[in-house]
Formats: sequence, C-alpha cells, structure tokens
Amino acid sequence: MSPAASPSPPPIPTPGAGLKLPPPIEVPDSLPSPEEMKGPEIERSLDRAKENLLAYIEERHPDCDTALLRKAVDFTVLAHKDQFRHSGMPYAEHPFEVAKLLADFNMDTVTIVAGLLHDVAEDTLHGVTEIREEFGEEVAFLVEAVTKITALGSRSRVEQQAETFRKMLVSMAKDLRVIMIKFADRLHNMRTLSYHRNEEKRRAIAAETLEVYAPLAHRFGLGQVKWELEDLSFKYLKPDAYKSLVHKVVEKRLEREEYVRSILGPAKEALAKAGLEAQVFGRPKHLYSIYSKMQSRNCQFEDIYDLHALRIIVKTVGDCYAVLGAMHALWSPLQSRFKDYIATPKSNHYQSLHTTVIGPGGKAIEVQIRTHEMDLVAEQGIAAHWGYKEGSSSREIGKENTWLKQVVEWQKDLTDSEEFMEYFRRDLAPSEIFVNTPKGQIIQLPQGATALDFAFALHSELGLHCVGARVDGVMVPLHRPLQSNERVEILKSDSQHPSQDWLSIVVTTKAKHHIRRWLRTEESAHSIQLGKEMMEREFRQARVASEHQADLAPFTAKFGVQNWETLWEKLGHGELSLGAVSAVVQELSPMRPKPSMLSRIGIRRPSKPVVDSVLVSGLGNMLIRFATCCHPVPGDRIIGYVTRGRGVSVHRANCPEGLNLTRDKERIVPVQWSVDAGQTFDAHLEITAKDRSGLLRDLTDVFSKVGVNVERASIVTLRDQVRNRFRVQVRDLDQIEETMERLRKVPSVYAVSRRTSGA
Ligand code: MN
Repeated sequence: MSPAASPSPPPIPTPGAGLKLPPPIEVPDSLPSPEEMKGPEIERSLDRAKENLLAYIEERHPDCDTALLRKAVDFTVLAHKDQFRHSGMPYAEHPFEVAKLLADFNMDTVTIVAGLLHDVAEDTLHGVTEIREEFGEEVAFLVEAVTKITALGSRSRVEQQAETFRKMLVSMAKDLRVIMIKFADRLHNMRTLSYHRNEEKRRAIAAETLEVYAPLAHRFGLGQVKWELEDLSFKYLKPDAYKSLVHKVVEKRLEREEYVRSILGPAKEALAKAGLEAQVFGRPKHLYSIYSKMQSRNCQFEDIYDLHALRIIVKTVGDCYAVLGAMHALWSPLQSRFKDYIATPKSNHYQSLHTTVIGPGGKAIEVQIRTHEMDLVAEQGIAAHWGYKEGSSSREIGKENTWLKQVVEWQKDLTDSEEFMEYFRRDLAPSEIFVNTPKGQIIQLPQGATALDFAFALHSELGLHCVGARVDGVMVPLHRPLQSNERVEILKSDSQHPSQDWLSIVVTTKAKHHIRRWLRTEESAHSIQLGKEMMEREFRQARVASEHQADLAPFTAKFGVQNWETLWEKLGHGELSLGAVSAVVQELSPMRPKPSMLSRIGIRRPSKPVVDSVLVSGLGNMLIRFATCCHPVPGDRIIGYVTRGRGVSVHRANCPEGLNLTRDKERIVPVQWSVDAGQTFDAHLEITAKDRSGLLRDLTDVFSKVGVNVERASIVTLRDQVRNRFRVQVRDLDQIEETMERLRKVPSVYAVSRRTSGA
C-alpha cells in the first residue's frame, strides 16, 4: 500500500499542536490476495509490524508498560491467526493501526491494550473471560464495551445496531476511554473502506459514520477526527460531488495560497506593532464542510471557498482580545459576525473568538483567535484533557460529561429500538444556535429548536407550563424554530399542561423526555380515576355490602393485583376487562347473580371519564361518554349511540359523525341532559384571524371576562393568518354562544366556530 496524496487541501501549515494523523490511504487497483502472501512471508511481515508498533508506542510514551503491550500484541496475532482483512492483509494489521491511533490520542497502556484486543471477543474463539484472566478487569471491561451485540435471537439488524449503541453509551458513561477505542477503530476502518468490495455495505458504513461517529467526535471536541470521518464518509456517500469538489479545490489552490500569503504579511505586521506574540496561520477548509455549506446555504463553490480563513494563536486570554482589537483596526469588521466563545464556550468546551473582516479586494476573511490550550481542546477535545498519565483519572472525565449523563438517563425510557436511534441521531445533530434569555444568559440549542425547547432547557417546570413566547418582544407561535441571537421570553400559566401534539413541536431530547413523562403520569392518574369509578358503579349495581367492598382478596386471587390502585389502573386502562372484574363483583352480590348490562355489552376501555350528566332512556344506569368529535354541552340537542364495547357515546344531534351512525338504527338511543349545578363541559373552539401582535392577549381577555376556563391552546400560523384552537370548560350552550359572540368582535378575527371533528 502506498500512501497517496491527501484529497483534502492543506496547502498552508496548520497549527502544530494537533494530532498527527496520517492522510487517508488511496486504493491501489489490484489487491494482494491472501494466497500471494504464504505462511513464512506472512509471519515475517507480522514480526516486522510488531516491532514497528512497539517502537511507535514507546517513542510516544516512554513510560508505557512494555511487557504488557508485548503480551497483548502476541495474543492479538495468535487470536486472529487465520483471518484476513478485505485488503488481503493479515487481520492483525487492523488492531495494530488502532493501537497506534490510541497512542496518538494520548491514551494509557490499558486503553492501547484494549484497542489491540478490541475485535478478539467479537471475531475469534477467545472470549472476554479469557481476556479478563490474561489482562485484568479494566481491559476486559473496555473490550466487552466495544463488542457488538449480535445473534440475539430474532432481533432485527436495526435492533442489534440500537442495542449496540445503547450498550456503548452506558459503558462510556462509566469509562470514557470506550469511545476513544471506537473512534480509533472507526477511523482505521474508514481509511481502509475502499477495500470493502460490497458497495452497499460501504455506503452503510459511511452513512453510520456520518450520522453517528462524526457528530460524536464533535460532541467530545475531537475536531480532527470529526473532519476526517466526515470527508471519508462524503467520499463514499456522494462520490460524484466529492470528485468534482476535489477538482475545483485543486484548480483554485494557487490563487488561494497567493491571497492568503498577501494577508498573512499585514496581519503579522499589525500584531508585531501592537507588541503581541502570536502565531498566524491560513486555515484550510475541509471538503465536507464546504459541501454542506453549499447545500444548506444553497450557494456556489466560489461563495464558500472565497471566504478566506485565518487562525491566530496566542499565549493568554487577554492577548486574544488584544489581537481582536488589532485585527479590527487593520480591516473593518462585519459587525454581525462576531462571536465570543471564550466567554460562552460551546457545550463541547470549544473556546475561541470568531470575527469576520473585510480584507484586501473586498474579500471576507474569517478570523479565529484563541490560546494554545484552547487550540489543543479544539483539535483533540476530551483527549486533550487526559494528557498521557498512566492510571490517570480518565474514568472521572466520563462521569462529569453532562450530555452523556443525560443520554444515559433518557435512553432508559426508550425501549423501542427505532425510537431510540431516532432520538440518538437527533440529539447528535451538530448544528447549534445560541439564543438569549431576557436577563442576557446565552442558551445553546440544536438547529430547529423552538421556544418550547428553550423553555424546557431553562427549567422543566417552565416547559411544562409554557403557554406562549415572545421573541424580541413579539408573540410567536410555539412551533416556530428559533434563530441565533434572538431574545426569548417564555409566558407560563399554572393551568397549562403538555399535550400529545407538543411532542411534534420540540426537537430536544430533554423536552421530549419531560413531556412523555408527564403524559405517562397523567394517563396513569386518569386510568386510576376511571377504574375506580367503574368499580364503584359495579359494586353499587350489584348492591355489594360495604364491608365486602373493602376486601381486595377475591380480586388478588383472580387477577394477582396487590392493591386497589393497581386494580383500578388496569381496569381503567383496559388491561382488565370490566366483564372479568364484574364477574368477581357478582360473586359478592347478595342478589341473585344476573349478567350485568355492562358486561353483556362488553365494555372494555372507555377513553373518557364516566359522566353522570346524561340520562339514557330505557337502559337505566349505563356507562356514558361524550363523543370527542363534537363535544356536546348542555343545551345542545343530543343523541346516544350504543357502541360495540365502549358504552353509550353521546353526540350532538347535528354531528356529521353522529348522523353517519344513524344508519345503524337500533343502536341509537334517546338521551336527555340531567345536569347538576356547577358541572362544566369541554368545548372546542376554532378562531381564524389575521395575525397581529396582541391578538392572543385579546382572545384570552374574552375568556376571562365570560368566566370560561381555558384548558389547552394551540396556535398555527399560515403566512399572515393564524388559527387558534382552544379547549375550554363551559357550563352550557348559552355560555359558549356568548363567548363566541364576543370573540367575533375582537379586531382582525375572521371566523369563530365550534369544532365538530378532529381531536
Ligand atoms: Mn475493529
């Protein structure tokens, strides 16, 4: 294999502090086959590779445990003895390269040893138990953590992938060195991906790298690993776009180098004059970052590539700001493009000053200014924190990582593999926006985040009660994506609660996590209340004596429930049929057992609480629920419909859905209102209006004047039109008609209606 020229364009020196990663290797057309490398020759070449590897590691880490390394190298060679890579090389080449990368990442001997053995448990007959006996618990833990989950009975590939990532994340939280082994493994696999002869597999590996590993590298601040993984994935996923971009970069290289040289001189001069000691570099752009900017901003190669970039490295934070002043004095700054990531570091600890200035010839120059330490963190991320220390506190670094802690927490709730992968990918999405609180605190959110995400980011309680948001002083719909630099103020109300549709408004995992948890708790409280009412009704009907009503024993015997709450919840949620529960109740009845009306109809799972406000003629005491399509209120003409299995549902007489049902004539029963004072009912209102500021406030004013309680609100904006939906609590038809009349008089309102369908 001969290393060919790197496809990315680093014509100008980059800061020397970074990792020395060799350029990606190009593929020779003809590959040596295992047959060409026969026994003794393979052994000789492996011996050479072994010595090279040990020398490579010792050179970087003179105090490493050579004896342990030698043992691990021999074990690796033996374990993979009869295996070959797609390139035709003996398999051991791969763990050897992984070990070298780990040495470059400043990892300790234990991690390098685990890197050597990382494929042993997955691909050979030697298991983790043997590794534990030979190399100890720490190495065994790391190897186990990076071993793929396979052959889990009938699980699908998606499930296996999801469970493998889940296991990796949980292990990472215990020991962050796990992810460094994964990065080294993936980097070498990507560098040698061209040997993979199956195109579909190549693309699948590249896609997974781009979706998961590159963003993970970004998450942990490993800038160099990230760009190399991205460029290599790009090459296999979009081969045509990749080739054309390489071609254009080469074509423009001279012109570009010349321009950078022409600005380096004046920049250095200005810094020297200001007495500032600084290193100044031109900064190459990576292929994938050029490509994705062209895509997202929908612009030409020249627009991106003509943006020149300088990096200035200094000794102290104070110097950073002094350099900023000197640059702004030399070339005039574009005011809107200044970012201070020193005062507000990114979540992966990246720190730097960013500014854009107008250079000679009116060309924009992006300038990054930072200290040596910040530069090291920008290139190496978490690896920069380790330094090379044997037995260092690397385990602790993982425990402090808040992102990792959160991921480990929320993944517990996501038992579904596909859902887990979807959240995981979204959580890794690298683009970030920065928005401000009214007090000037900066909050970092993923691209596409809404005011609701922002509310949850500040505090879960604020999120759960969020009713609206003002962005730069103007009310905005909750679903509108936020932009960087906006100032966001959250409006809250104690009566506000999450609803199912909130899940489609938020993008952050934190917000989703809290909304789901709230919905689940609410559902369970709902089921308990419903089940309890159903039981009471059954007891009452069967005239069961109260001392028998307090006895759980017959239900425990029949259903295995240990307390009433569980029984009620199961009944209310539909896990237990009312028929089955009713049968037990009948046993306790002093009356002659007769089949209850309810169990004959076979009511299982009412979706709404039982209501007492409607009388069903001729059927006596029945389970009633209001139809969710039309939400009748007292005063409305109503009809009852005996559903199959869910009691009587009550519709407004003019409900289209109700009319449809009348085809089934013998199921229609006459019903009449029987309302107690103080009872209220759900009604759904839809208001269409021209959007304007203060609209929402005027609408809610009407509700409070007529004494109607708003339970839920949703706002959808379409161009300059806004559709408001409210769920309100009313006494009767009169009250809702008065409310609607007043709403119609609010300026800019086009139409007010009671909704008759849709939830
Ligand atoms: Mn591997």
